[in-house]
Amino acid sequence: MRAVVVEAFGSVPQLRDVPEPACPPDGALVRVEATGLCRSDWHALAGHDPDVALPHVPGHEFAGVVAEVGPDVRGWRPGERVTAPFVNACGRCGPCRAGEQQVCADQRQPGFTHWGSFAELVVVERAEVNLVRLPPDVDAVAAAALGCRFATAFRAVAHVGRAAPGEWVAVHGCGGVGLSAVHVAVAAGARVVAVDVRRPALDLAVAAGAEAVVLPEPGEDPLGVAARVRDAAGGDVALSLDALGSPATCAASVACLAPRGRHVQVGLLPDALGWPAVPMHLVIAGELEVLGSHGMAARRYPELLGLVAAGRLRPAELVTNRIDLAAAGPALAAMGEAPPTGITVAIP
Ligand SMILES: [Zn+2]
Ligand SMILES: [Zn+2]
Repeated sequence: MRAVVVEAFGSVPQLRDVPEPACPPDGALVRVEATGLCRSDWHALAGHDPDVALPHVPGHEFAGVVAEVGPDVRGWRPGERVTAPFVNACGRCGPCRAGEQQVCADQRQPGFTHWGSFAELVVVERAEVNLVRLPPDVDAVAAAALGCRFATAFRAVAHVGRAAPGEWVAVHGCGGVGLSAVHVAVAAGARVVAVDVRRPALDLAVAAGAEAVVLPEPGEDPLGVAARVRDAAGGDVALSLDALGSPATCAASVACLAPRGRHVQVGLLPDALGWPAVPMHLVIAGELEVLGSHGMAARRYPELLGLVAAGRLRPAELVTNRIDLAAAGPALAAMGEAPPTGITVAIP
């Protein structure tokens, strides 16, 4: 099969022919119809993730068709249209038994712990726990982001962040997950202030419904950015998300909140890049909540898919770039220096 292969960290991944993966007894092989380019793929390419072994195939948000199921899998058959959360949960550990498969203690992740979806075929491990059926009217390109960014944003805003109608929500970083968060928050009836250092990203956020924007200067003090976010909101910021994952956006997100506000960390902060300084004095003074949100379990997808099928949420509107698989490697390598605006989806 054709796959985008990383031979060395930090290099440009190349499209080449590789052997098809074997289907595990409890897993499924999915023929990829569309796969998104997420910042975590760039972290993997850059060597920030200790789980990644070379040579490697990135990619963890995809939609496709079941090509094969292992002999131990019940309830699934070839031909079904599916996606899967990027956390392939075990279904047996403590968090899984509690219904919190997104923080499974024995998780596998395509594109990290095994080869991912920048390929014609990808393995979904523990298929019964992790496969998600797609409604017929949700196409593959729209569904591709449901494996990571759009579903991550949905859970961070709606479930973990508990966004309520009329509340002000700040979104720091308006790449794929941030733009999705803007869209979900607006759909929930919240008022959004979007923050990004790139004007084109803010233009997309406004198109997605953000009412106010803040464009930080390069190197601007996070507390200064936070003050501008509060001014731009024109009201108390009740919920704020760091949708990028950087010391500056994390600090600004915590600092922009009104008393009793909720910070949700969505962007990855790899250990390899050092721990961020968080203004914890504001957390105690304002009784802020500091929350993490790590994808979404397969069992929570029907609510999201229902909203997509009903047209209340429209992930396809956020897809700005469609590329073929051969272009995915160079696009991924460029992501660190020049992150794309909107969501990029590759079609194998
Ligand atoms: Zn588990
Ligand atoms: Zn991702």
